[in-house]
Amino acid sequence: MGLGPSPAPTTGSDALSWSERWAGAPCTETDPDLGFPEGTRTYPNSPRIVAAKKLCTNCPLDLREACLEIAMAAEGTLIADGRFGVYGGLDPHQRAQLAARRTAVAS
Ligand code: SF4
Repeated sequence: MGLGPSPAPTTGSDALSWSERWAGAPCTETDPDLGFPEGTRTYPNSPRIVAAKKLCTNCPLDLREACLEIAMAAEGTLIADGRFGVYGGLDPHQRAQLAARRTAVAS
């Protein structure tokens, strides 16, 4: 998976179909591989990552926040090299930094 919304919750009161949950997200209407450069690693300044992040700036705020938080929960405390793609407008390095900041604040 490259750029694209995180999976929607499938159980509980938040359960929505994927298309219902992410209606209006610009990435659902573009190349899902946009968030990946060649190969498996994502480099913050690669043209595709920059383009993916730009697309995310046009995503409704509630979707963008949900996308980021679902990705953050799924990725846990992984280092940047263990994270892939753009979610919530953040690349793997930015999400790893955010996770580290959150861990520091919580301790
Ligand atoms: S924040 Fe970006 S990746 Fe997430 S749903 Fe919106 S456009 Fe897609």
